[in-house]
Amino acid sequence: MGASSFDIFESLFDMGNMNMGGRGGMGGSRNRAVDGQDEYYNLVLTFNKAVFGVVKEIEVTRLESCDTCNGSGAKPRTKATKCNTCGGQGQVVSSARTPLGVFQQVMTCNTCGGAGETFVPCNICSGDGRVRKTKRISLKVPSGVDSGSRLRFRSEGNVGRRGGSPGDLFVMIEVIPDPVLKRDDTNILYTCKILYVDAILGTTIKVPTVDGMMDLKIPGGTQPNTTLVMAKKGVPVLNKSNM
Ligand SMILES: [Zn+2]
Ligand SMILES: [Zn+2]
Repeated sequence: MGASSFDIFESLFDMGNMNMGGRGGMGGSRNRAVDGQDEYYNLVLTFNKAVFGVVKEIEVTRLESCDTCNGSGAKPRTKATKCNTCGGQGQVVSSARTPLGVFQQVMTCNTCGGAGETFVPCNICSGDGRVRKTKRISLKVPSGVDSGSRLRFRSEGNVGRRGGSPGDLFVMIEVIPDPVLKRDDTNILYTCKILYVDAILGTTIKVPTVDGMMDLKIPGGTQPNTTLVMAKKGVPVLNKSNM
């Protein structure tokens, strides 16, 4: 989403905030901070990485503070001046006389966008104070994630404007299925066929696991569709406090 559509959202929000009645100003809202928006990233993991967890370097493109103006949005070496339209209040009051009395509407000043001052915009960020940058960040993906897991990395989203808090980064996990191992929550399933005679007499077979090939002893007299358990070869329980 570009900076311009963000501005549209902001002014719509302000329209919904109109203050009816004669209470006068709502108090100065100079330099209103605007929090940054959350950012989303789709991360594809192999079956094993999802089971064991991984530290993954990713590239995210997000709004960061503009270095040229230090996030102020003002052209360097220029001074902000008090907004003429609102006299520095950031809001304008309009009165309307109706049969029910005088209504006053307090609205955000269009000229300064509520900041109370106007400035020569920075050439690099066009006055937004933020620029879109691509950055490499290192993500610690915990063990036990699965397709549909959503990880939240606080304050790794888009920076805010005028000192607003940064948004969060949400990483949506997609796991590539394994050709032979099937995931069932924290269990891993493997289906194999053995000879009839081996089922009657018992045998030992090699079974693929996330820790490599392992021996599995099949007891004599094993019936078709029997499920044998290999302890501790499943998936760690995901620590939900990270989510
Ligand atoms: Zn700038
Ligand atoms: Zn103004």
